[in-house]
Amino acid sequence: MKLRLEAFRGKPSVTGDGELREIVANIGTPADGVIAKDDDAEGVGLLRTEFLYMNRPSAPLEEEQYEAYKKVVQTFGDKPVIIRTLDIGGDKEIPYLNLPKEDNPFLGYRAIRFCLNNHDLFQAQLRALLRASAYGNLRIMIPMITRVEEVREVKKLRDRCIEDLTREGKHFNPDTPIGIMVETPAACMMADRLAAEVDFFSIGTNDLTGYTMCADRGNSQVADLYTAYDPAVLRSIKRICSCAHNAGIPVGMCGEAASDPALIPVLLAFGLDEFSVSHEKVLSTRYNMSLWTRVEADHIARHALARDSAANIKRYLKDKVKRRI
Ligand code: PEP
Ligand code: MG
Repeated sequence: MKLRLEAFRGKPSVTGDGELREIVANIGTPADGVIAKDDDAEGVGLLRTEFLYMNRPSAPLEEEQYEAYKKVVQTFGDKPVIIRTLDIGGDKEIPYLNLPKEDNPFLGYRAIRFCLNNHDLFQAQLRALLRASAYGNLRIMIPMITRVEEVREVKKLRDRCIEDLTREGKHFNPDTPIGIMVETPAACMMADRLAAEVDFFSIGTNDLTGYTMCADRGNSQVADLYTAYDPAVLRSIKRICSCAHNAGIPVGMCGEAASDPALIPVLLAFGLDEFSVSHEKVLSTRYNMSLWTRVEADHIARHALARDSAANIKRYLKDKVKRRI
């Protein structure tokens, strides 16, 4: 199998009948970026910036962040690098931020909710990101969006940073794309309106599955409910892809589902443009993508969505893949 996968190194990411898609990597640090590039990722679909904020006594200054983001962008030259703004809360704790203890941290004060209440900290990150944009193809991604107003507020802060940086004579790309993670049921339902506000979507199936199914990804007692094969999750993904395309923006996926061989034909049928996967799965995802033509993928997606249980859909899709591989 390893030899077979090596044949996909350096090749474009195409379906069985030559439709071009993109396979990029999820990374956690600038060093991961180098590994992902070696593993043939066509860019970065998700840089989790939490690494800069965790395991230290205080928040990183703008300069330190700028250097880290610049390093990743430079690693990838003109290829896209999507950097997600701070996504703390939930299971990710940062002691010096003194976040209140909550009964339901996953439904609480996390990610963009925290950032929009802490302008100094958020603007330091936005400024660092904008300055790093001068060195390549950087895109900014906002996590845990639930409302259109949040996006508008982020864009206002971004504009303020742009004014300040211009006044200071700093170099940056004033047209740096800004996108959102679609990972809450609210964002899924509002995807048509949200798509009109941003340059791209990336579907976070890890959270979207949890929030849609009301099942914690770490709780073994509800593990059966926590599955992207559930028709509720698949319908959500389909809707998000359609809303993005109706608005003329690209849609990617950076949750674990993007590299699941049995889901790939379904995601191809939905028109997913970008698959962001862990670096060791870049070549296998390219291989799995090459197995399906548009007609086959559409047929499989239609038959999967005609079923009403996750177990049934999973059985059907796994069987299809087994016969093909
Ligand atoms: C997701 O929710 O799918 C995602 C990629 O973000 P994280 O796993 O960091 O919450
Ligand atoms: Mg998430």
